[in-house]
Amino acid sequence: MATESLVPATERRDAKERRKSAAIAVQPDMSYEQETNPWLAQEARFDFAAKKLNLDDGMWKILRQPTRELIVHIPVGMDDGRIEVFTGYRVQHSISRGPCKGGVRYAPDVSLDEVRALASWMTWKCAVVNIPFGGAKGGIICDPHKMSQGELERMTRRYTAELMEFIGPEKDVPAPDVGTNEQTMAWMMDTYSMHMRQTVTSVVTGKPVSMGGSRGRVEATGRGVSIICDHALEHLGMPIQGCRVIIQGFGNVGSNAAKLLFEKGYTVVGIAEYDGGLFNAMGIDINALLRHRKQAGSVVGFAGAEAVDPLELITRECEILIPAATENVITSRNAADLKCRILCEGANGPTTMVADDILAEKGIFVLPDILANAGGVTASYFEWVQDRMGYFWNEAEVNRRLDLIMSESFHDVISYAVTHNVNNRIAAYMLAIDRVAFVAKQRGMYA
Ligand code: NAD
Repeated sequence: MATESLVPATERRDAKERRKSAAIAVQPDMSYEQETNPWLAQEARFDFAAKKLNLDDGMWKILRQPTRELIVHIPVGMDDGRIEVFTGYRVQHSISRGPCKGGVRYAPDVSLDEVRALASWMTWKCAVVNIPFGGAKGGIICDPHKMSQGELERMTRRYTAELMEFIGPEKDVPAPDVGTNEQTMAWMMDTYSMHMRQTVTSVVTGKPVSMGGSRGRVEATGRGVSIICDHALEHLGMPIQGCRVIIQGFGNVGSNAAKLLFEKGYTVVGIAEYDGGLFNAMGIDINALLRHRKQAGSVVGFAGAEAVDPLELITRECEILIPAATENVITSRNAADLKCRILCEGANGPTTMVADDILAEKGIFVLPDILANAGGVTASYFEWVQDRMGYFWNEAEVNRRLDLIMSESFHDVISYAVTHNVNNRIAAYMLAIDRVAFVAKQRGMYA
C-alpha cells in the first residue's frame, strides 16, 4: 500500500495549511551543524509556539532560558592509579510547577547545549502530561562502556556530592538516561543519604524496586509509546491488524515498545540498531529477538529476519516509524525519504526543525517526543509519590494510572492542534508553555 494513499485528501490539505501557519522561520543558510544543535532547535520551537500564544515579552524572556546551569569538574581515581578529571553538568530549567525533574546522561558527546535543551524539554514534557515538576537534565562527558564499575561508582558519587545543595526531593530529582541505569541511581541515592545522615529514597527515581523504585518504571516509556500509537491509529481510523512498525534503537525504550506493540498485534517489520538492521515483512517475533539479544549481546545474527542496512531501514514503507535511539536522526538529509504514515518519537529530539517542515509537507502525522515518550517521567512521578507516601502500588495500578495520563495527554495535544490550527509538535509546546506561564504568573516574580 503506498503511503500517499493512506493520507486522506482533507488531512493533506489540513497538513499543508498547518504547515503554512506552523512552519518555523528556519534561516535558509542554516548549516547542518546549526540544524542539529538541540538547543537551537528547542529555542526555535519555543519562540514559534510562544508567538502563537501571544506570550508577553517578560514571560517569554523568563521561560526561554534555564534558571540555573551548573558545571562541575570531577576528579576520579582510575583503576590504573591515574587521576582523571571529568566535566559534568546539571541544568535546571524551571521550578514554576514544582521541583525539577530529569535524567543524567553519561556519553562522550554530552555538551552544555544538549543538556540545556534536554532540561527545557523536560519542563515542557512534565507540563504536557500535567505532573507537578519543572525540568532539569544532567550529564557527564565520559564513555561509560570503557569504564569499570568501580570508576563509574567513584565518578557518580563525586558528581552527586558536587550537586548536594542543588538536588533533593523538593528541589531537583535526577533519574537515569542514556548511559546510566538503576545502579547509578542507587549510588546517587546512597551518596545523598550519607550526607543527609538519613535514607532519602525520593531524591532520585529509576531506582531498583528493592530500594524504593516503582514497579513498571523500566517498561514505562515504551508502554507510553505503545499507548500513544494506539490512540493515533484510532484517531486516524487505522486498524492495528496489518499496522507495520519500524523501530530504531532496541534499548530500554525501543525494546519495551517493540514487545508491547508485538503483544498487541502490531506487525513489527523492522529493527534498526547502530551495528545492524533487521527486516521481516511478515513481522519479527520480538520475544525470540529478545532471547537472541540476551545470548548474543546484539540483535545482529538473528535468524528470524533478513539483515539490512539500519540507515536505509528507517526510510522503508511502514505505518509507524519509532525513532527510539538518539537525537538528530531525521534531518534535512533523509526526511524526504521517509515513507511512514505516523512518526512516533520515542527518543528525545530525534527530528530537526528543518525536517519538521518536510514531514508536514509529506502529511506525516508526528507524535512529538514531549508527548510520546512522557511515560517515563510519568512513572518517575509515581515513584516519587510512592517514596514520599512509603506505600507502594502493584504493577497493574502503575500501568492503569499511566494509561489514564497518557491517554488524556494525547487528547489534550490533538485538541490543541485542531483548535489553534497548528501541527502536533507546536500544539504540545503551546499547551505546555501555556500551563507553565499560567503558574509563573500566579506565583509572581520574587525580587
Ligand atoms: P538505551 O541506551 O537503553 O537504548 C538506546 C539504543 O539505541 C541502544 O541499544 C543503542 O545501541 C541504540 N542506538 C544508539 N544510536 C543509534 C543509532 N544511531 N542507530 C540505531 N541505534 C542506535 O537508551 P534509552 O533509555 O532507550 O533511550 C533512548 C532515547 O529515548 C534517548 O533519546 C532518551 O533520552 C529517550 N528517553 C528515554 C527514556 C527512558 O525512560 N529510558 C524516557 C524518555 C526519553
